[in-house]
Amino acid sequence: MKSNAIRIHEFGGPEVLRFEEIDLPEPGAGEARIRHTAIGLNFIDTYHRTGLYPIGLPAGLGSEAAAVVESVGAGVTDVKPGDRVVYTGGPTDSYSVARNYPAQRLVPIPDAISDEQAAASFLKGMTAWYLLKRSYPVAAGDTVLLYAAAGGVGSFASQWGQHLGANVIGVVSNTAKAELALKQGCQHVVMADADIPARVRELTGGEGVAAVYDSVGKDTFFASLDCLRPHGVMVTFGNASGAVEPFAPAELAKRHSLYVTRPVLFDFIDSRASLLQVSADLFDVIASGAVEVSVNQRYALRDAAQAHIDLEARKTTGSTILLP
Ligand code: NDP
Repeated sequence: MKSNAIRIHEFGGPEVLRFEEIDLPEPGAGEARIRHTAIGLNFIDTYHRTGLYPIGLPAGLGSEAAAVVESVGAGVTDVKPGDRVVYTGGPTDSYSVARNYPAQRLVPIPDAISDEQAAASFLKGMTAWYLLKRSYPVAAGDTVLLYAAAGGVGSFASQWGQHLGANVIGVVSNTAKAELALKQGCQHVVMADADIPARVRELTGGEGVAAVYDSVGKDTFFASLDCLRPHGVMVTFGNASGAVEPFAPAELAKRHSLYVTRPVLFDFIDSRASLLQVSADLFDVIASGAVEVSVNQRYALRDAAQAHIDLEARKTTGSTILLP
C-alpha cells in the first residue's frame, strides 16, 4: 500500500523535513496497521531531526500519535481492527498518514478522551506523571520549580502539580505565558531572563525549593542547583538549550547534599503493565477535569517543518497537533 510520511535524509534544521510517498508493507507478526488521526509534536522530535539523539538515516520522525487500527498481523491479541488507540515511542515514524506499529505498545483510548486529546497528552502527560510521582514525588505543601511552565510538558505538570497539592513556581519567557502558567495552577511565575535563584529565594523565604524540574538543560543547570534547598532534588529532563555539560559531583556537596537525576519517560513505561497503569492515571485526571488538555496549535502534517520552527522559536504554548 502507498502512504505519505515526513522523512529526513540528513540531520539539520527544519528544512530537512520532506513530505514523501512511501510503501507501507502488510503488518508483520505482532504489529498492527494503524491510520493516524492526530499526531503529537514534541521537542524530542527536534533532537531526532538535528541528530542530538541519533537515529539511522533515512528516517521518519515523531514519537506520539492517536490512530485507528486497520488490520493486525499474526499473533496480535492486544488490539483489533476499528479500535481507537494511542502510542508513544519509537521507531520514529508518527509523522505519517499510516504505519505499522508493535501492537503491545498501543493503548486503547477511553470514550471520554478524544483522539486529539490523546495525541496531545500521551507523551507529555505521562512525562508530567513520572516527574511528579517518581523522579521527585511531590508531597502536599512542597514548593517546586518548573521550567517552560506554559509549554507542552509544563502545562500538564503545573496543573497536575497543583492537583497534588504542590506549590509550583513556573519559569516562562513572556507575559502571555506568565498569565497562562498562573491560570494553569502555578502559584508564582519567574521570568526566564531574571536572576532565577534570587527570585526563588525571595519566594521561599530564603529556603529554596524541594525539587527543580529543568527541561532547558545547558543554560540553566547551575542556576537550577542554586534554587534547591539542602538535600533538594535536581530533575534534569530536557535539552531545549543544549545538552548539560559534564560537571563535578562536588557541586552537589557545596550546595548541601543535593541529588541529581536524569530520567527518560520510556524507562517508566517499559512493560505493558506499567504503560497501561500510567496511561490510566493520565486518562483519569483528564476525564475528571483535574488536568485540561490545551491544543493551542494545529498544523497540517505536510507543514511539520513550520511547526518545528515555531516550537524552537518558543512561539508555542500547551500542546501542538499535526493533522494527517
Ligand atoms: P515545550 O512545548 O515545553 O517547548 C519548549 C519550551 O522550552 C519553550 O516553549 C520555551 O518556553 C522553553 N525554552 C527555554 N529555553 C529554550 C530554548 N533555548 N529554545 C527553545 N525553547 C526553550 O516542549 P515539550 O513539552 O515537547 O518538551 C519540553 C521539554 O521536556 C523538552 O526539553 C523535552 O526534551 C523535555 N522532555 C523530556 C522527556 C523525558 O522523558 N526526559 C519527555 C518529554 C519531554 P519559555 O519560552 O517559556 O521559556
